[in-house]
Amino acid sequence: MKSTADVVIVGGGVIGTSLLFNLGRLGVTDTLLLEKDVLGSGSTGRSQAICRMHYSNPVTAIMAWESLGIFSNFKEVVGGESGFVETGYLVVVTADDSVGLARNVSMQYGLGIDTMRVTARDLEDIAPMVAVYEDEFMAWEPQSGYADPYMVTTSYGVRAREMGAEISLRNPVTSIEVGSGRVKAVVTAEGRVETPIAVVAAGPWSKQVLGDMGVDVPLVPVRHQVASLTRPVDKLPLHPTVGDIAQSFSFRPDGNSLTMMGFGPEEEVDLETYNQGVDMDEMASALSRLANRIPAMEDAYFRGGWSGLFTTTPDWHPILDAVPGIEGLYCAIGFSGHGFKLSPMIGVTMAELIVEGVSNSVDISPLRFNRFEEGDMLESSYRYRVLA
Ligand SMILES: Cc1cc2nc3c(=O)[nH]c(=O)nc-3n(C[C@H](O)[C@H](O)[C@H](O)COP(=O)(O)OP(=O)(O)OC[C@H]3O[C@@H](n4cnc5c(N)ncnc54)[C@H](O)[C@@H]3O)c2cc1C
Repeated sequence: MKSTADVVIVGGGVIGTSLLFNLGRLGVTDTLLLEKDVLGSGSTGRSQAICRMHYSNPVTAIMAWESLGIFSNFKEVVGGESGFVETGYLVVVTADDSVGLARNVSMQYGLGIDTMRVTARDLEDIAPMVAVYEDEFMAWEPQSGYADPYMVTTSYGVRAREMGAEISLRNPVTSIEVGSGRVKAVVTAEGRVETPIAVVAAGPWSKQVLGDMGVDVPLVPVRHQVASLTRPVDKLPLHPTVGDIAQSFSFRPDGNSLTMMGFGPEEEVDLETYNQGVDMDEMASALSRLANRIPAMEDAYFRGGWSGLFTTTPDWHPILDAVPGIEGLYCAIGFSGHGFKLSPMIGVTMAELIVEGVSNSVDISPLRFNRFEEGDMLESSYRYRVLA
């Protein structure tokens, strides 16, 4: 491990590696990323990795849209593979949420995002396998889909290394040293790295890393469950990705014969001791909701599953900012269920903030550190906050 660096990043998930790559693109290559385990071993490796633009706020909608452009041209823009598959994305809500849906679609439309409201009649052409019911309302994003979180993370890492960055694995950060109000060094199990800039991108562990420095951040880990299902390909060769707000779960295809389903209550848990498996009663309930939405899935069967952590903030949106009061300290944290789809533009905007002092690509000030104490939180159109 090097003993000095211009920038040190704590955390080798999709956020840390995207930032490492984008710093390189801006010419900052004397960089070091420290990961306590291996790349993608945190929330990233457990992600459903759905890429959609349906959000209630312009800042996240536009970041998701611009990120989608990067995922679908990953080889040209970044290098390596993202595993992106275009499936189309359907949002389904009940009458209670129909005003919010219409508002979100028109906001997205104004940003140039490819989305539209659709009716049951439209779905007969777009996605005839999907059943919708009276008093349900829908929006459709033809270009959305999913990607491979591990491939994206490692591709960013490989390209960053080619530009000169160093990645040190199985090397936990134990402290970040501050003197005279500025970052001085990052200390790890292997030694000490002098640096003027440290970025905390440690996913669910960020609260602890920053807390050790006396910086309190309102992060709460929430468990989210995922099931892998074998789908009856004879009856159902394909289906789109669906954000089923009406039934509080989501699903997407996973390759040619599998379907990946995300579900479960918003359960606050301890990040070291939570149940990383699946609750079979919750899984059975989600599977019956899936058959309600796609009747052919009645013949699907459960192959296995896992749980991972959403790192939530009070408004379920990330904090992208310099940490007030400590010069040279930055954070990119609190991504809830959104961090994967936003990750390409998180790297772009955070690199701009660090190198140029302001993010010119997208105005990320709505995601500033102090918004919670200022009472200026982002709002969601929906009570199902995974789809905020
Ligand atoms: C089940 C599930 C489904 C999801 N589905 C979607 C989805 O469909 N679409 C979407 O956009 N998002 C989704 N998300 C959210 C998305 O995956 C996360 O927001 C994103 O992966 C967060 O990335 P990260 O790099 O911030 O955190 P992480 O991937 O957790 O990375 C943080 C890294 O920091 C390391 N670390 C921690 N402490 C230290 C330390 N002291 N020293 C060194 N390293 C340290 C950890 O080992 C870890 O590798 C999902 C998440 C889960 C759990």
